[in-house]
Amino acid sequence: MTTTALPTYEDAIAHYEPVIGLETHVELGTNTKMFCGCPTEFGAEPNTQVCPVCLGLPGALPVANRAAIEATIRIGLALNCDIAPWCRMARKNYFYPDMPKNFQTSQYDEPLCVDGYVDVQIDGETFRVEIERVHLEEDTGKSLHVGGATGRIHGATESLVDYNRAGIPLVEIVTKPVPGLGARAPEVAKAYVTELRDIIRSLDVSDVRMEQGSMRCDVNTSLNRPGDEWGTRTETKNVNSLRSVERAVRSEIIRQAGLLTGGTRIFQETRHFQETTGDTRPGRSKETATDYRYFPEPDLVPIAPDTAWVAELKAALPELPSVKRARLAEEWGISALDMQSVANAGAIELIEETIAAGTSAAGARKWWMGELARRANESGVELAAVGVTPAQVAQLQGLVDEGKLNDKLARQVLEGVVAGEGDPAAVIEARGLGVVSDTGALTAAVDEAIAANPDIAAKIRDGKVAAAGALVGAVMKTTRGQADAKTVRELILARLS
Ligand SMILES: [Zn+2]
Repeated sequence: MTTTALPTYEDAIAHYEPVIGLETHVELGTNTKMFCGCPTEFGAEPNTQVCPVCLGLPGALPVANRAAIEATIRIGLALNCDIAPWCRMARKNYFYPDMPKNFQTSQYDEPLCVDGYVDVQIDGETFRVEIERVHLEEDTGKSLHVGGATGRIHGATESLVDYNRAGIPLVEIVTKPVPGLGARAPEVAKAYVTELRDIIRSLDVSDVRMEQGSMRCDVNTSLNRPGDEWGTRTETKNVNSLRSVERAVRSEIIRQAGLLTGGTRIFQETRHFQETTGDTRPGRSKETATDYRYFPEPDLVPIAPDTAWVAELKAALPELPSVKRARLAEEWGISALDMQSVANAGAIELIEETIAAGTSAAGARKWWMGELARRANESGVELAAVGVTPAQVAQLQGLVDEGKLNDKLARQVLEGVVAGEGDPAAVIEARGLGVVSDTGALTAAVDEAIAANPDIAAKIRDGKVAAAGALVGAVMKTTRGQADAKTVRELILARLS
């Protein structure tokens, strides 16, 4: 086998058109599992949340969780889907040690929700991602491979299985293939998963935490030459963060372009995203639907949601993120594009809370999108984890508004808050950072500046008031920025008039 040098991303996009598709699994936050009464709390001791049903013991019979069906319908409605008036669960047959029944109870040709869409905005441009289906299934258990360096089964000395997760309701959201995105494909993939996460979060049906696995994403990618039929797709798994969604699509486009240009066929396969290197590695060759021998689940009654119930659920949907963004943009007096930056920075709730604590919209946005965004970026953390609360930002801006801090001092106070020195008031006290506007203390500094700059003082005496700026600067320097500039200016002019 020959190896082909990888093209650049720009080069790959210049010769090939990507088609992407996304399959997202969301673990529902129901109190009990999908087909039994076992609790679902995250982080419990292994195999303490199990029963004959979710362990697949012979003779145990499942009963569907109504709250999970309701949550799935609400997700479908929020994604503009049609809700099936009648559908069934199906058995997806395969063997895996973390799935004790040897089949997963899922849905096959009769999903609960179909034909929806999600619109995402990038740089003011709208991209529509169409939803093929939203269906309900159960999660598997978790295998733990011990003794190896990688945590993978290769090289492990033993494997352990925890069935606590087996049977937790899982919603799978599958998009239709999305062609025509060109170089934007990785960004649209990320924006779609972000929007999906925010929509589901607004419904309060899952905590949608990618790092804890309650939201997991598989990314399908294929390439074709312009005008040709779509190429063979690969499915990338293990994509565990929003950033990784973008990276996974990008690296797969580059990898496939390299192979295709070198004359190698793309095989339909499952690949694994490598968080450390940002590329994908081969997994198993992909099964086709016929390998799973799907058939309708005989132990469960069909799901037939009453139309009045669905209408009720639709009417009771909360304000969805896109509607909320439009409303806030108007309230805050900012453009849709600026609002998108706020959303991308994860700053909407933080700004809302800061405003609720008494700050103006402009004041709240200035801190979160300016100094704090910069700090978060520098230390590679989420804005919400930067070390300052909305209440503290509100206090800080309040002190600026009252003239007790200028912007420069406020940034120093913020530094103290981030360093864990307490609320703004405590930092000011401890660091002695307040603005000095007491004229007695400033007069000496003003006299010193006048004595040191006789030429400038002479100009001001001659009526050239604009020259006062240089003396104000000199006073600010000797007081290490703590003087109230307005008071200093008044003192200088009074002295020299
Ligand atoms: Zn159970």
